[in-house]
Amino acid sequence: MSIESPQRIAIFSDIHGNLQALEATLSAIRDEKVDKLYCCGDIVGYGGNPNECIELVKSLECPVVLGNHDYAALDLTNTDYFNDVARAAIIWTASVLKEENIAFVRQLPYVYIEGDFFFVHASPRSPEDWNYIITMGEAELNFHYFDQRFCFIGHSHQPFIVEKDKGNLSCPRSPVHRIADNGRYLINVGSVGQPRDRDPRACYAICDLKKMTIEIKRVDYDISGAQRAIIDNDLPKELAERLAHGW
Ligand code: ZN
Repeated sequence: MSIESPQRIAIFSDIHGNLQALEATLSAIRDEKVDKLYCCGDIVGYGGNPNECIELVKSLECPVVLGNHDYAALDLTNTDYFNDVARAAIIWTASVLKEENIAFVRQLPYVYIEGDFFFVHASPRSPEDWNYIITMGEAELNFHYFDQRFCFIGHSHQPFIVEKDKGNLSCPRSPVHRIADNGRYLINVGSVGQPRDRDPRACYAICDLKKMTIEIKRVDYDISGAQRAIIDNDLPKELAERLAHGW
């Protein structure tokens, strides 16, 4: 018996405790009529509603992989590489997380594989090291570390599509990209809750194997509500300010 793999999927990542952005993203995804959702990690860190975000993601019953902020919230001894602002936010996050939400984060895998799809937070090459894929050279190297046709990542909060077709690598910029017949893909789905590509709107991706398209999508959300949640919890105000700039 063959299991039919989903044809139209939504992938979202890096929510970072931003409930307003998560709600807007999920409502946009509901209109997309997808077969299945996947989350590439970092549900918490930075934002003012970590418990609510975990509970909402959990309620979707979709595959979720572990992000570095999720991991840090479980074990604060692993925050040496965080800057002061990120560390302050993760210490606060760890202090407010409910037991059952900690238990949910604790069972998340580093990698999730389903049919043609590979999901990881940072990089397929070394999922536990939280390396960033920024350059084409790093992208090229990482294509050797997954066998599936599509690899979805988050982590840098900067969406991109890298296509490998007939040995050639390219980085198409159009928001709707046509999947090449023999192409393989490394896709950064951007960030729901703290975009860093100078577009403050929440970001997610749609991959459609029937239409043969990959889309990076944006959705407006209540930024001031998310900023208020940060300020009201005495988190560093830079975290609120940056949401308005998408940086
Ligand atoms: Zn992140």
